[in-house]
Amino acid sequence: MSKTVLVTGSSRGIGAAIAELFYENGYNVAINYNKSEKEAKALLEKLPGSLLLKGDVSSEEDVKNMIEQTVAHFGKIDVLINNAGISQTGLLQDISLEEWEKLFSINVTGTFLTSKYAVKNMLANHNGKIINISSIWGISGASCESCYSASKGAVIAFTKALAKELGASNITVNCIAPGFIDTDMNKNISKEDTKAFCEETPLGRIGTPDEVAKAALFLASENADFITGQILGVDGGAII
Ligand code: NAP
Repeated sequence: MSKTVLVTGSSRGIGAAIAELFYENGYNVAINYNKSEKEAKALLEKLPGSLLLKGDVSSEEDVKNMIEQTVAHFGKIDVLINNAGISQTGLLQDISLEEWEKLFSINVTGTFLTSKYAVKNMLANHNGKIINISSIWGISGASCESCYSASKGAVIAFTKALAKELGASNITVNCIAPGFIDTDMNKNISKEDTKAFCEETPLGRIGTPDEVAKAALFLASENADFITGQILGVDGGAII
């Protein structure tokens, strides 16, 4: 029986690359989108037989529905990838409380909610893999991204604690901390800033969504059965 993966925020960028790679490797794929319906439907056409789920990860009702629909359609959830996320740049004094709360509601509360509801099915099956997408900034912190860094740091702490809680239930919880990856999230970063980042990165370039997807596929595989609570950098060596 094929394994099932639910990838949050898989209409674009890293999430879409993860959905595609898992599909190519025989997984049943549940594609989640919130706003990018056109892109999500185009991805569904490329991955026939996948399940398309509209839902905001910060809404408990949406998340419950997404998990229920995935289990009803494919029978179970083997792998949950908490990828949906937004960024927020700016000086601390210019960030509003509303912006902070929106950031945390998607990046942190979203990860909490999807994990909470997916874990019920994983516990029943005594099997599961949760992979959270954090960021190098959740490890080292980025100037003018203090709120985003804090949200991604929370995802790392959540990963470690949940790995301890769920280990006895044969559920692993790991995290990927990507560096600078070529997606819409970075479309406003200037060529000069991108060049400077590359110069400070040992591998001398930015990464591709597919490179993050390959790390997720490894963490979801049997090759990673004895790995839990880890933060895997996919960053060209930006954080060593
Ligand atoms: P992206 O291209 O901007 O895509 C973000 C994805 O998240 C979209 O599919 C979007 O879906 C989804 N999303 C946003 N809010 C959502 C919500 N409330 N509910 C459900 N889905 C939602 O970003 P990306 O670069 O692929 O980033 C993916 C993850 O990697 C994020 O967690 C990000 O923080 C992390 N990351 C990225 C980089 C990088 O350099 N790109 C580096 C480190 C970490 P809709 O468009 O359908 O709303």
